[in-house]
This record gives sequence, structure tokens and C-alpha cells, in this order.
Amino acid sequence: MKRKKIKKSAVRKLVLLVVLILGIMFFLINYNSVDKKLERLNYSKEAIKEIKDNKLEATILKQKYSKTLDTALTSKDFDKKNLELYFNIKFNNSKDFIKNINQLAEIGYDDKEINKIFSKVNNKEVNYLTNYTYISDLKNYLDYKIFKTENLERYIKYRDENDNLSYKEIILYVNMNLDKAFYDNPKEVTNPDDLLVLVNKYNKLPEEYEAKNLELIDSKYSVKDMKLRKEAKEKFEEMCTDAKSINLIIKAVSAYRDKDYQSNLYNDYVKDKGLKMAEEFSARPRHSEHETGLAVDVMGGPTGYDLFENTKEYEWVKQNAQKYGFIVRYQQEKENITGYHYESWHLRYVGEKVATYIYENDITFDEYYALFLDN
Ligand SMILES: [Zn+2]
Repeated sequence: MKRKKIKKSAVRKLVLLVVLILGIMFFLINYNSVDKKLERLNYSKEAIKEIKDNKLEATILKQKYSKTLDTALTSKDFDKKNLELYFNIKFNNSKDFIKNINQLAEIGYDDKEINKIFSKVNNKEVNYLTNYTYISDLKNYLDYKIFKTENLERYIKYRDENDNLSYKEIILYVNMNLDKAFYDNPKEVTNPDDLLVLVNKYNKLPEEYEAKNLELIDSKYSVKDMKLRKEAKEKFEEMCTDAKSINLIIKAVSAYRDKDYQSNLYNDYVKDKGLKMAEEFSARPRHSEHETGLAVDVMGGPTGYDLFENTKEYEWVKQNAQKYGFIVRYQQEKENITGYHYESWHLRYVGEKVATYIYENDITFDEYYALFLDN
């Protein structure tokens, strides 16, 4: 009886051991199966099927999980020759993501370039790039926040013609339309009532627009009745008052002009001085800042506005106008940007913050607009 018992329990133990060993073996085999390894890496069931169908296990198991690859594997656009590329492209949720990677690679972009493109350019613009030839210096453009893909062809052309300019300048100037002739297909502004509206030779006021909230400038500070937008008028008077307290006499000689007035002014200029001069010194109707009620031409002391440049009033205005929200709009040596000859007398109201920035950075309002307001 005793021996039998021993035998029975020994058999039982043996069976248990075998079961245990088999269990461990089964577990180890299963644990080390390709499926399980890929699953543990995080690949989806569908992706694992594709991996096995394409016999890519060996390559894929050598690397870390890639969500881009996972997505590629289950996409109809999966292209085996771009396998390595998928590993290196940061995943994003954009439409046609995999198709776009394939096309960018086909054109000649490498993983670094493609990552940069996706980080800087929206989906519609990626499509633009996929339809374009390889641009070896694309990354130099993409570094700038104001880069616009729709202007890319113009940047490239402008850079060919102006190789002395930096990429930043190329982008800025093309965004400002400086690669086009003045008045070439000007854009109608959508924010004519905005205190920061940009009106120049590329941007015009709507045909029927009339400035609102116009108020007469105090007769102490103007040579005849003339109006400015309320905000500009108040600050202008404040500036003139402060100037007067230190014996500087600043007076408005021209402020708000309606469309007809500007039209006559321009046409008279053309008649008197010819088209070329008129274009340099006068604005076509709807293209003058005077039509916004935010610009004022001034004179200093007893001299006319055209001599303002030589007055002590001008010296003071140059250093102080920004505190009242005004800028000297058409600066010296900026003619190529503003499209106008230097006009010391033409002041534009943009508010203190913007005026101070423009003053401190010695830029034009056109540049300020392209840098911060044009989006
Ligand atoms: Zn003016």
C-alpha cells in the first residue's frame, strides 16, 4: 500500500512537471513568435498581416515602432521601397499623408526635408509642393513664419534676380508684392475701417468706401477746415499742443480726402507734370492714405509743407511722433518699398504701439504689415 501511494504521487508530480515544461515551452514559443513581437512593439493587427505578407519582419523587428509605418502598411498607398523613409517621418494626421510622403520622396526630398515640410506647410500646400520640381533650398524658405507656399515660384524667381538679398528679405519683399510693378493687379483691402489698414500701390480701398468717424481738426492746428478719423484727430491735436508748449508750430495742410478730391488731385498732377512725376509724387484714387482719414500732411513754423524737412518742428516730429501714434510714412531710402519719394510731411496714424515698433526698428509700415498683419 505504501509503495503504491508513493508511485501514484510520483506519477502525478511527473505529469505536473511535464505539463509545466510544456506550458513554459508553449509560452516561450508563443512569446517569441513574430506576431507577438510585433504586437508588443505596438503594431496593429492589420499592419502585422501586411508585414508578414510582404516578408518585412526581419527589417521591422530591428527598429523601434513607427506610427507612420503602421499607417503606411495599412494604407493603399504603401510603397515597399519607402520603408526606411516611413520609419523616419514623424506621424501626422493629414489627408493623403502616405501618398504625399511617397510623392515628396519621388521628387527627391529626403526624410529631414519631408519632416520639415510637414511641420511648416499645410495640407493644401503640400499638394502644391508635390506638383512642383525638387527645390534644393526649400528648407531655407520654410524657416520663416511669413513663408507662403503660394508665393514659392515668385520667391525663386525673385531670388534669381536679387541674389544679394537674404531669404528673409526675399520672402518679405515678395509677400509685399515688390516683385510686381506698382498698380499691377492691386488687391482691394477687406478692412478699410481698420486703424491699421494698408493702402499703397498694391492695396486699394473699395470703390465705394467712405471713411467714417471723421472730425474737424482744431483750427489752431490746421490751415483750413479739414478732417481726420476721430482717433487720429485727437492724437494729432495732442501732438501739436505738446509741440506748441516748446514753441514748435505744427499745422495740418492736408488731411482727409474723398475719392473725387484725390482723383482730381492726381489728374491735375498728371496734366501739370506728366504721368511719370505724378506716379512718383501722387497716389491714384483709392490708393491714397488720405482717403482713409488716417494721414495728414503738415508744415512747420511759417514754411510750406515741402520745406518741412528743414524745420526744427520736423526734427522734433521725427523723434516724438510715435508717442502719439504717428509715423513718417514715406521715409528716405525706402522709396523702392513705399513707392513714393521721401515725404517728410506725410504722417500716418497707426497707434502708439505700432508706431513705436516702426520707429525703433526703422522699417516702413508696408514691412510691418507684411511681418505681422498679413495672414
Ligand atoms: Zn500726404
